[in-house]
Amino acid sequence: MAEIIDGKLVAEDVVATVKRLTADLTAKGHAAPGLAVVIVGEDPASQVYVSSKGKKAKECGFLSVQHTLPAGTSEADLLNLIGDLNADTSIDGILVQLPLPGHIDSGKVIQTIAPGKDVDGFHFVNVGKLGTGELETAFVPCTPAGSMILIERVRGKDLSGLNAVVVGRSNIVGKPMANLLLAANCTVTIAHSRTKDLPALARTADILVAAVGRPEMVKGDWVKPGATVIDVGINRVPAPEKGEGKHRLVGDVAFAEAEKNAGAITPVPGGVGPMTIALLMANTLVSAYLKAGLKRPSF
Ligand code: NAP
Repeated sequence: MAEIIDGKLVAEDVVATVKRLTADLTAKGHAAPGLAVVIVGEDPASQVYVSSKGKKAKECGFLSVQHTLPAGTSEADLLNLIGDLNADTSIDGILVQLPLPGHIDSGKVIQTIAPGKDVDGFHFVNVGKLGTGELETAFVPCTPAGSMILIERVRGKDLSGLNAVVVGRSNIVGKPMANLLLAANCTVTIAHSRTKDLPALARTADILVAAVGRPEMVKGDWVKPGATVIDVGINRVPAPEKGEGKHRLVGDVAFAEAEKNAGAITPVPGGVGPMTIALLMANTLVSAYLKAGLKRPSF
């Protein structure tokens, strides 16, 4: 049976490092890192995410600022707020909670964030830095960055000679994940909805990352014996066994089957999920360290 990769534990470890390095930074006379989270509208799920990010930032010893704007806020007003946050020296990280209401162009908003404060790693400058291997100053999207830390905990930092298959090619997960694996010397294949014979391709993977959004699509016999399996998917499926109308969370990997073949595997929940928020804190800390002219911390 596979080693179960405890994302909650690793995330706690990352957050503990962030706290320690924040204390070091302020002890050297620098301001604490500042994270500004902007939310437009009242989507309940987004509000939960935003409040947990704010809480975690405070727990890390950061300056935590939240801007809650009404759903009808104009694009121009939002861009003005981002301009103010770009100019505010107490703010090191700016996160705009997505999705934004339909009348606002999310792409334009993201590209307005100063690349040095883009702790989500979505700005073209950061995408380009990751793509060209400028990892010293790049901000990498939190979910793939967190997944990479989980892989390193199992396999070490140099993945030379390993075959990696990433299923999913989104800009938020699949593509940056593939670039990180390439930077760590894997031979990387990106699969997607048009890939032929995905099961056979998946079976070549020493590292298999599923970021698809389809419940339990990756079956146990797609997993090469001993492979490291990272399940990014978070899918809500009906759970009548828990009572009428109840749901449970499952990943993109059929966990019970896959754990019989894998060497190590992330569960859902409790795998990649907790890493995402931890990496948001890590990215904000990195921003503050770079601003202070200090060496980039690693996690
Ligand atoms: P996305 O933008 O919808 O991308 C899904 C990708 O999967 C696409 O590239 C798509 O291919 C591919 N795909 C869809 N059906 C497929 C199939 N049958 N075979 C092979 N590939 C297929 O999703 P995402 O934002 O990357 O998110 C993926 C999953 O991760 C979702 O479950 C999401 O909830 C979860 N997620 C979790 C976290 C976290 O914190 N743990 C963060 C972000 C996302 P095409 O490009 O060809 O359409």
